[in-house]
Amino acid sequence: MSSSTLPLSTAAVLSGSAGFAAELAPVLNPARTSEVVGWYAQASVEVVDDVVRAAAAAAPLWDALGALERGRLMAAAATALEHGIDERAELLTREQGKVLWESRLDVGGAPRLLDYYAGLAATLDTEEVVHDERGTTVIRRVPIGPTVVIVPWNYPVYLCMMVLAPALAAGNPVIVKPSELAPLALTETLAILARHLPPGVVNVVPGTGPAAGAALVGHPLVRKVLFTGGTQTGRSVLRGAAENITSVSLELGGNDPAVILESAVVDDQLIREIRRSVYTCTGQVCFNIKRLYVHRSRYDEFVEQFKSAVDEIVVGDGLHPESTIGPLNNRRQWESVTALIAETERQGGTVDVLGRAHPEARWNDGHFMLPSVITGVGHEASVVGCEQFGPTVPILPFDDEDEAVRMANDTEFGLAASVWSSDIDHALALGRRIEAGSVFVNSHRVGSSDMTMPFGGMKRSGLGRNHGMWAIDECSELQALSHRLDTASFPGPPTH
Ligand code: NDP
Repeated sequence: MSSSTLPLSTAAVLSGSAGFAAELAPVLNPARTSEVVGWYAQASVEVVDDVVRAAAAAAPLWDALGALERGRLMAAAATALEHGIDERAELLTREQGKVLWESRLDVGGAPRLLDYYAGLAATLDTEEVVHDERGTTVIRRVPIGPTVVIVPWNYPVYLCMMVLAPALAAGNPVIVKPSELAPLALTETLAILARHLPPGVVNVVPGTGPAAGAALVGHPLVRKVLFTGGTQTGRSVLRGAAENITSVSLELGGNDPAVILESAVVDDQLIREIRRSVYTCTGQVCFNIKRLYVHRSRYDEFVEQFKSAVDEIVVGDGLHPESTIGPLNNRRQWESVTALIAETERQGGTVDVLGRAHPEARWNDGHFMLPSVITGVGHEASVVGCEQFGPTVPILPFDDEDEAVRMANDTEFGLAASVWSSDIDHALALGRRIEAGSVFVNSHRVGSSDMTMPFGGMKRSGLGRNHGMWAIDECSELQALSHRLDTASFPGPPTH
């Protein structure tokens, strides 16, 4: 395949006619698994190699344009991506399962993020020049090189753009491998973006993780991997990148705790915010609340109010306006959450299954699950210790704050956490003791972390930081260009 067939357009990729013969796999609607929403090509290792070479060939031109011009092109693409958001959101709901307003947020993130980083790009051409008595050093930010972006299925467009837009602004060509479980809206978005940029700057490699994903990570011309997904897959990515010493940034899983202090006011606002944080995207968000620790003095009122709020949830096809949450994205996820709930019951926990099914939901044809609330479990229960990634949450009481902090930190994860209190200073002080990349006070949702805050995980939740200039730094190199008049501060061997 010649590089002129790149970047791959959506239609071409999905029909397998982009210059390579590819096997096609169906993308099924999680709300009606009998419906094929689209087709997804399975790129071979040879295709991966062609695409990486095309990206590498495009790298010097994209760099030479300068950040200002790159930003201008990105802004034009952002304007184009403002059109068709509703159509792409509907496509995303049909392939991913989540409700339409969430899909609009996801798809609508593409123009917003491109625009934001187009604005930042204007500052990137500025070089720092340091003069001192010995001469001059120029400190330059330079692109790192062909950058692979691997994304999961829960927020595919937003999570891709969150790392892709800064990579482009920094001057890197990108190669995206979407998740085979939600590739369509993302590929459409990338096809529109690619049309506004020089050939080879934005590329899509469809395929499975173990085949196309691993081949991309291990390719010797790839200089950076921006990976978002599970911790176990993150380990494979690190191993795959080791051979070529390829730089890797990881956004991995989370088991986010929320600590509700004695001083919290358990009112409607708090209950609704926490409900939203637990059940958004049917519980399938890396930084959704996954465990609730409530001070014993507040425990009963919290559990009662929370359960009655969860009981209002309507589960159905994400396209039905009355649905509050959609189905789980895939069968494997449904089986994993179902098994976890069964294990919780075996361990003596109480699982209150709440909410109701939308009357038109085709329950047996989709990956539907009613929301639940778990009580009566100890900190050692499986559902407390893992990232459940589904519509359920354990609620545990605590007696003193040291115990709450200990339980919050007793996890391999460290993505985000929240503290809930009417005493903000006290909540902030407690937040300092929690091992998480983001700690929110009185909020915890998609959007709680904006571009002014670094985003990323501690411990096994990730490597590196996203948002703002931190994201640009993740995919840039710094070069020191120095002309110094003497080397007195680092003398050579004495001369005789
Ligand atoms: P996975 O880790 O299973 O997959 C993520 C991506 O990696 C997919 O595109 C997948 O491809 C690909 N992949 C799989 N194996 C390999 C491999 N060996 N080499 C390279 N790529 C590979 O995660 P999920 O898609 O199941 O997403 C859920 C996970 O993502 C959760 O743990 C969640 O917490 C985490 N996540 C983290 C976020 C963060 O910002 N920290 C945000 C969102 C999710 P394919 O599936 O097509 O085979």
